Amino acid sequence: MTNRLAIGAEIFEIAPAMTKKVLNAGLGKPMPLDEETIKREVDNGADWSSASVFVLGGIRKGDDGKPRFQIRFVSHVDGDLGQELRKYIGKYKGFRFKFFRSTHNAYDRECQIYHDFKPRENTQHPTKPKHTKFLCPVPECSEAQ
Ligand SMILES: [Zn+2]
Repeated sequence: MTNRLAIGAEIFEIAPAMTKKVLNAGLGKPMPLDEETIKREVDNGADWSSASVFVLGGIRKGDDGKPRFQIRFVSHVDGDLGQELRKYIGKYKGFRFKFFRSTHNAYDRECQIYHDFKPRENTQHPTKPKHTKFLCPVPECSEAQ
């Protein structure tokens, strides 16, 4: 089985092995980071919530020559995700996101992605949402104490 990923006008094929990793991040499918997509998928998304997690990334060729979506940055938003994503248009080619029912769920997922993927543009551990005492869900993490 091969999945297809559209970035702008280009269509990429995602290797099955990568599909598994893409799914493991627990976010939606990769999409091009542009105004039109943000408006359609985020602002007018059926599932809108004020708690969300997003990743930003680029496309590079894998060892097998096939393009891969590469997570370079992960963050969460309490509030307007669309507004936050617009700050990065032009800086990253693609993004993935997911809305969560609670800020706590969003923080958990953000931490898991941070530890699993070690995005190179995250220079420090995800910060707790304001006015919370949430702990990182990854047991071996120093923020999990
Ligand atoms: Zn952690």
